[in-house]
Amino acid sequence: KTPTDYFVIDDEMIKEIFKPKNDFAHKGTYGKAIIVAGSCGKIGAAVLATKSALKTGTGLTFTIAPNCGYEILQTSCPEAMFISGGKKYIEEIEIQKDSVYGIGPGLGTESQTEKSLLKFLKQSENPLLLDADALNIISKNQDHINLIPKNSVITPHPKEFERLFGTTEDSFERLELARIKAKELQIFIVLKDHHTQIIDPKGKVFYNITGNSGLAKGGSGDLLTGIITSLLAQKYSPENASILGVWLHGKAADFAAKKFSKESMLPTDVIGELGNVFLYLN
Ligand code: AMP
Ligand code: MG
Repeated sequence: KTPTDYFVIDDEMIKEIFKPKNDFAHKGTYGKAIIVAGSCGKIGAAVLATKSALKTGTGLTFTIAPNCGYEILQTSCPEAMFISGGKKYIEEIEIQKDSVYGIGPGLGTESQTEKSLLKFLKQSENPLLLDADALNIISKNQDHINLIPKNSVITPHPKEFERLFGTTEDSFERLELARIKAKELQIFIVLKDHHTQIIDPKGKVFYNITGNSGLAKGGSGDLLTGIITSLLAQKYSPENASILGVWLHGKAADFAAKKFSKESMLPTDVIGELGNVFLYLN
């Protein structure tokens, strides 16, 4: 463990990672993102993740959600395309090899959803993003955790991390366990917290210092799923997508807190500030 393994994400690092849009681009230039999210009563999670993916600049955005979310999604996210995944919850995840998947917000853990996720993971080779209930589903079994494709990104909050990898005494031990697991599984772990940490497969740790307690509300994490999935679809490396994504999410939250207060800002307001963050970067 050397000090050179730990980095604080600053504006300089972000400006080096961020790639402005190319004047001659077309929608194919910026990739296809597929958000797999939602179940009846939790379609909001699919809306928040889908909108965030759209507002991060993906070329084409799709949402796989249950049919009970059809009208909600088509009305609130008209730029995204709906793919049916089942009736009330996800029962089938269509595979498109040229797309990047962000799976998990609001999925629930129904046995049919579990089956479809495991079937999907067994067939997928490309890096993807797993969050929330996708992590809760695979937590039940080490063989399932081993199905995560290499170079994927997972975004657990502390409780989800604990379900996946076990309990630790404190946040220092948790970080060290995350370094071991990221190496073992060859994945990127985005350990969400007040200061979110990104752990790469070599054991390097990146600390994020944007964001604030106005994010301590249901729905905040769903935005991060959409943002990072979009960046992966736009061909940022998993490491850069995670670093830039976490920073963007926090920065947009800081802008939202200035405008609306930490109390009243909502995840929807944070999505609304993503544009101002991109203006800041451009
Ligand atoms: P989730 O628990 O999945 O909804 O994710 C919550 C998101 O909000 C994560 O990205 C956290 O890093 C962020 N968040 C929650 N509480 C705080 C806080 N007190 N300070 C900074 N970020 C926070
Ligand atoms: Mg969450």
